[in-house]
Amino acid sequence: MKLRFWGVRGSIACPGPNTVEFGGNTPCLELRFGDKNRLIIIDTGTGIHPLGNRLVSDDIQAGPLTADIFITHTHWDHIIGFPFFKPIYIPETKLKVYGPITFEDDPLEKIMSDLLRYRYFPVLHGELTADIEYLQLGECKLDIGDGITLKTKYLNHPLLCLGYRFEFNGKVLCTAYDTEPFRNVFSTDKDAEDFDPVACGEGEEAARKENEKLLDFYRDADVLIHDCQYTKEEYFPSKTGWGHSFFEHAIDSALKANVKKVVLFHHDPLRTDQELHELENHCRKQFGDRSDLKVIVAKEGMEIVV
Ligand SMILES: [Zn+2]
Ligand SMILES: [Zn+2]
Repeated sequence: MKLRFWGVRGSIACPGPNTVEFGGNTPCLELRFGDKNRLIIIDTGTGIHPLGNRLVSDDIQAGPLTADIFITHTHWDHIIGFPFFKPIYIPETKLKVYGPITFEDDPLEKIMSDLLRYRYFPVLHGELTADIEYLQLGECKLDIGDGITLKTKYLNHPLLCLGYRFEFNGKVLCTAYDTEPFRNVFSTDKDAEDFDPVACGEGEEAARKENEKLLDFYRDADVLIHDCQYTKEEYFPSKTGWGHSFFEHAIDSALKANVKKVVLFHHDPLRTDQELHELENHCRKQFGDRSDLKVIVAKEGMEIVV
């Protein structure tokens, strides 16, 4: 598998002098598989705009484009680039767009096609000339052809969000964004009026089990792309429950799950290039010599062979 990062930011695109190096586009990953060069795209954040331009100037010159797009969830930062993906305006393009089942009365097709309404955009979804099929996923294991196996797992985010695990030729690439650690939501303060020891105990156990299931999902991955929006100081207590992780948690999970490379991803839009360099240096010093785990800070344009 060959992986390229087209967008690494969370929440909102943030171009500017402080994000030149690591990039300001929101999530979009390009994955290529084996000799057939099978194309899979994960998320359609603003990073899909430059990817689409590259596909038009390069791949499409050699023949029509066929691709699978896997949406982790439909928060804006993960879908907003879709109307700007040039191949959807080319009649020979064939796309399968997969995403989680979120609301019964609001299927994936409706959420995505709502982006192309006159309220927001000058072209209607019905006017697109590409052949686009929408498919909804829950937790599952799928054979998606060409020797690729896909496993999915719900993460911990305010909206149902899927992690994707691709297995190909004995190698594993896994995504774990947007997510934060599961936690006990019942009061743990014994003096508090609403303290219920039974509920508290059950809450602790449920969170422990769910966190364990996530580790099983990442287990032995060659590459784990993990949410890393915050530092520990930012996460506790003010941003707990917002659906994002801090880098210590990402690294700790990777160590526990015997992951070989963890890529810190979904950077906060306020995180500057300098701060991301400091984070990289800190991780290298802290973990460089003490384990086999390699910690990488995601950067636009970065490529990894899995
Ligand atoms: Zn996000
Ligand atoms: Zn989100």
